[in-house]
Amino acid sequence: MKEVACKRCLRIVPKGKDCPICKGKDMSENWKGFVVIINPEKSKIANILKRDLPGEYALKVSK
Ligand SMILES: [Zn+2]
Repeated sequence: MKEVACKRCLRIVPKGKDCPICKGKDMSENWKGFVVIINPEKSKIANILKRDLPGEYALKVSK
């Protein structure tokens, strides 16, 4: 299934779904990079990206 990334918080979601994190509907098929955050409290990446919920995120989304 094609996946899209939320333009607001970069969460990756299956196409056709709303963002479960910020409830945004503004999705982009043009995203790059891929990061999985499992333990937000312990993850340096989560800290740098300011993602505090586990899940899959894009690193960059084209508007
Ligand atoms: Zn979002």
